[in-house]
Amino acid sequence: MKEIVQIGDEVLREVAAEVPVEEIPGKKIQNIVQEMVEALEAEPDGAALAAPQIGVSLRIFVLARRVFGAQSGREEASKDTHLVFINPTIIKRSRRKEYMDEGCLSVRGHYGTKKRHTNVTITAYDEHGHKFTRGAGGLLAQAFQHECDHLDGILFVDGAEKVWDVEVPDRA
Ligand code: ZN
Repeated sequence: MKEIVQIGDEVLREVAAEVPVEEIPGKKIQNIVQEMVEALEAEPDGAALAAPQIGVSLRIFVLARRVFGAQSGREEASKDTHLVFINPTIIKRSRRKEYMDEGCLSVRGHYGTKKRHTNVTITAYDEHGHKFTRGAGGLLAQAFQHECDHLDGILFVDGAEKVWDVEVPDRA
């Protein structure tokens, strides 16, 4: 099992590389996605994870459907437990922003308040190499922004309104 990299590690500050689309179905990328899913599943409070958080500087993130399932629409018929976003780009942002509380598996023991766009639209490739577009509001929009930030080397504590300590839950 891959350990989740913590703040202070250089890989979290790199601008992650695009995944060549033709490589998405290949073993290397499929293995990385699997490792991300396993690392996220081991976290009782884990909602999403970006590849740099397992030390891989590639533009991939996964969302746990147990957290976002009700809002996930597109894959409702799928038995997959995670939503996979490869080379994600936020193509639209609402003008409206609001302060939202957030945490990060790479900034354990801290929570913060950060201003986020209330609605965004994202394009990405799924784990099969199919391109899709999705709009989101609320928690899902916040997650899209948080995860895309990871791929540009940004952590939520950068520019957070305030940051406070929280108890770290036991690992699964
Ligand atoms: Zn994070």
